[in-house]
Parts: sequence; structure tokens; C-alpha cells
Amino acid sequence: MANFSRRKFLVTAGISAAGSILLKGCVGNPPSQTPTGASPTSPAASPTPAAAGDAPETTQIKLGYIPIVESAPLIIAQEKGFFAKYGMTGVEVSKQANWASARDNVTIGSAGGGIDGGQWQMPMPYLISEGIITNGNKVPMYVLVQLVTQGNGIAISGKNAGKGIGLKIADPDVIKNFAAAEGRKFKAAHTFPNVNQDFWIRFWFAANGIDPDNDIDLLAVPPPETVQGMRNGTMDAFSTGDPWPYRIVADDIGFMSTLTAEMWPFHPEEYLAIRADWVDKNPKATKALLKGVMEAQQWCDDPANRAELVQILSGRNFFNIPAPILEAPFAGKYNMGDGKPAIDDFKKGPLYWKDGIGSVSYPYKSHDLWFLTESVRWGFHGWKPDDLDRLKGLIDTINREDLWREAAQEAGFTADIPTETSRGVETFFDGTQFDPANPKAYLDSLKIKRV
Ligand code: CA
Repeated sequence: MANFSRRKFLVTAGISAAGSILLKGCVGNPPSQTPTGASPTSPAASPTPAAAGDAPETTQIKLGYIPIVESAPLIIAQEKGFFAKYGMTGVEVSKQANWASARDNVTIGSAGGGIDGGQWQMPMPYLISEGIITNGNKVPMYVLVQLVTQGNGIAISGKNAGKGIGLKIADPDVIKNFAAAEGRKFKAAHTFPNVNQDFWIRFWFAANGIDPDNDIDLLAVPPPETVQGMRNGTMDAFSTGDPWPYRIVADDIGFMSTLTAEMWPFHPEEYLAIRADWVDKNPKATKALLKGVMEAQQWCDDPANRAELVQILSGRNFFNIPAPILEAPFAGKYNMGDGKPAIDDFKKGPLYWKDGIGSVSYPYKSHDLWFLTESVRWGFHGWKPDDLDRLKGLIDTINREDLWREAAQEAGFTADIPTETSRGVETFFDGTQFDPANPKAYLDSLKIKRV
């Protein structure tokens, strides 16, 4: 088994070598060509006979993914034959070098050699639809499924160990007055501006009384550069996702101050969104895709399937990393480092179909509104509180929870269909509450903001 030789390699070559493989696997590879259809390991998901007229308009689509745990439902739907089960026999999941490449590829579309949709941080589908991150080139998109919750966190360099930097920071002045001691501000990184990772680290700093725009330097840096900086002491913090936290702690580069699962249990994370022109032209194929993703999400959440999940994702065609790097987060096991107690809770790791509140898969409109409200909070894109009504209208266009509902109904997942488009009031670790019915009250309640 490849698994065995990888384990042996880990033991003999040590975790540093494993880490460098992870670096390559995560960001260095060119987009790989992956086989389409079910793999031989598939339990031969039996095709569901489609009623006459229900056949998808096309069996083909190209979906981008980034090799992090968020992409699992797309890869599993292909590899375990769930796309094929619903008639989508020509799905290609295509590894993207980074978020900017995914964005550029979706503006081209598969006809031009790009992708039709795929995995996104939020609110990228909104920013692409509005032309905000595509040089004014508006490419309307639809948000269709939430792929995952949790699985992200904030790593701190080993240099900052022993300073009480956790979910709650013992003494915020250690970070605010960093320059007095170090000759430069505390430096933090995310991989793409104005999306999830940026929001998580901003929220965490601000909840601890640290202004992410003024008290520190916060910037977009590619993961390998960030990890190198954390190792050599020029970078202090990294808003990141599995499997990076495992590597950062195991390789003694730093520690985890917090998991996003601790900041906001069962928070919205990444989504499947597809070009609106593709969905409008292929509504039946879209629902077939959704059914395949939903079934994959249910499969991913079964603890009995996690070992196979790790084996598939870590493989050469996908993440191309040693399997043990993925085993811990998929068991909900996190060594936090810096003397913090380790976390061992399946429900604090990545979850794909259901979580401790309700549906993971269903794209709640209230969560889209949080991402857009948080964008207003930080003054991104020049948005102001007065824009909130317009932004809500945008949600009604871009969020296609109606298609999710229809697909779930048709596939028989009726017990798991939420009754509301809002998940209701959300509560963060510092007690802050977001009531989707009153986003302005949320903005008013925040102490650190740009509005
Ligand atoms: Ca993420």
C-alpha cells in the first residue's frame, strides 16, 4: 500500500521532509489532469434511472478546487461515483494553483480553457459577479452549496510562544506594542484579501482589542512564504486551514492560537459556486451536480469513511501529500502547541453535511449577509452601511438556495432541508451577536471597525 510506504517515509525521513512535501502538494503543483468518473475503489454507486425528460442537459462541467479539506465533497463526488450516479459522467475536478488562478479561470470559463465554477472563499462569487476582483469584468455567478464548516484556524510563530496568545489574548499590548520591542509591527498573513481567512484573523484580533488595520501589519502572502517567514522569525501569524495547522505544530514552526471552530462554532466556510450562464443553460445538470455533492458530503461525515477519505485526498491526483498529515484533522484532533491542551473532538474538525446547529450543505442567505456585512465593517470595496439594502438584493440574485432545496427534495434528503433561509442569530466567542434581521445593529455593536 502507498499508505505504508508513506508512513515508513515519515518515520525515516522525519516530519520536516513531510512538511516540504506538503508545501509542494499544497501550492506548487500545476493544475493536474484528473481522471473523470468513478475510481475502481468506488462501491459502484448504481445509476438512478432518470425519468424521461429528467436527463441532464449536459454531462460535462469543469470545477476548480484548492487542495485543502474544503474541496473534499467535490473530489469525493467524482471519485466515489456520486456525480455519475446522477448522470454527470463527465465532471472534471481541476486543481487550481491558488485563489487568483481560480478567479482568472472562472472568468474565462471552460470553453476558453478555464473552469465553469468550483470552490470559493466568501464572498468571492459576489466579488466576481460584481467585477470587483476581475478588473470590472462582471461574471455573474450562483452560490449553490456550502462545502464545509470549520477546518480553519490561526497559527502563531514559535517566536511568540509563551506570551499568552490564545483564543483570548492575555495581554493585547504584547501585540499592540510589538514594534517597541522588535522594531517592527506584529506581522500577520492570509492568502487572499477580503475573504474568509482575512475575516477570521481580523475578527480574532478585533475581538481581542487589536485593530488589524492600525496596530499590526496584515497582508496577503502565499502559504510557503508565510511558513518560511514564521520559521525564520519575520512573520508572526497566519490565518490558515487544514492541513496546514498540523504541519505548523508538528514541524515546530509555531502553534495554533485558536481554531475557527472555537471562534464561531459551525461557522460558514467555503462554497460551491458556478457561473450563472452555465446554471441557467443547464438547470437539470446543476441539480444533478448538487445531488452528487450532497451525497458526497453525507459520505464524508461518516466517521467510518474518514480513513478512505484521507487515502483519496492525499493521493497523487489530488493533494499529493503523506496521508498522516490529514488523519489528525479528520479525526478532530489538533495539537495546539504552546502548552495548550490538545483538542480531540470530531465535531471541532471539518464537517460537511450536518453540524451541531443544522445543515452545513444548505447555503443560508443569512451567512452570505454576514460576509457582506463584515465587508462593510472593514470598509472593503468602498461599501458603506447604506449599501446593505442593495447587498441584500444581491444575495437574492446570487444565492440559489432554491436550487439546493429542489435538488435535496428530489434526491430524498427531505429530513435535512432547513425551513428558513436564515440560520438566525449567530454568537461569536467574545459574546458578539449577529442578527441577520438587523445587520446595522451588529455594526453598531462593534468597537473596532472602519464605519
Ligand atoms: Ca478556508
